[in-house]
Amino acid sequence: MKFSVLGSGSRGNCVFVESGDTCVLIDAGFSGKEIANRLARIGREISCLDAVFVTHEHHDHIHGVGVMSRRCRIPVFANAGTYRSGGKTLTKLHKRCEFQTGDRTVFNDLEVHSFAISHDTADPVGFVVGNGEERLGICTDTGAASRLISRRLGNCTGLVLEFNHDPDMLKNGPYPESLKQRVKSSQGHLSNGDGAGLLASVLHDNLKRIVLAHLSETNNLPEIAYRAARGVICDQLAPSVLTVSEQQMPTTLYNLKS
Ligand SMILES: [Zn+2]
Ligand SMILES: [Zn+2]
Repeated sequence: MKFSVLGSGSRGNCVFVESGDTCVLIDAGFSGKEIANRLARIGREISCLDAVFVTHEHHDHIHGVGVMSRRCRIPVFANAGTYRSGGKTLTKLHKRCEFQTGDRTVFNDLEVHSFAISHDTADPVGFVVGNGEERLGICTDTGAASRLISRRLGNCTGLVLEFNHDPDMLKNGPYPESLKQRVKSSQGHLSNGDGAGLLASVLHDNLKRIVLAHLSETNNLPEIAYRAARGVICDQLAPSVLTVSEQQMPTTLYNLKS
């Protein structure tokens, strides 16, 4: 199984996952053109896409879902709450498929297992995408790291985890007080320390790739997030398994098998 975080942050989120002949996006928070450009940078085309799975209805996750579905003639998978709250952006689709939170959806070569997270939207989820050999866990946009989340993300060979903010930068930064409260609430976003705690709870020797994601451009720095994660993996894993994703650029297309 291969994957790339095509971009991550409050201005757009999209993860590309490939196994055999099956290619899916987890969220499509950029324009269709931007997603095509980013796929080209990792040597892929939008014509290879087979489906889009949606975590929740915030704009930075669904902006390009409709256009990708129509242009590529591919189904969209989301739960009823996300469809209901996604408004117009999630109405004109080539094909609308609904899952219930907690379902395992078998789609071609992949099984996509959704699980509940804690965020200020209708029914937000994270996903574990598996192909029978490797498992990629994706968990961003959650204000709390529950036991359920740790359980679902255990045994994953790849992880995309939220390291949203540094609490001091958030506290002393330019956000209005109401927004600061929202970010750090249990339905907001994980801080670097929270992300590190989650990572510690799911760490094992067979983890091939850990990508830190959804970093705030205002309230975080890649090196602070990296340091927090590096402190957790210590000597158990090589530092080279850690990557910090970017808002502007896709990561490498990582192979979880190698
Ligand atoms: Zn988001
Ligand atoms: Zn969100």
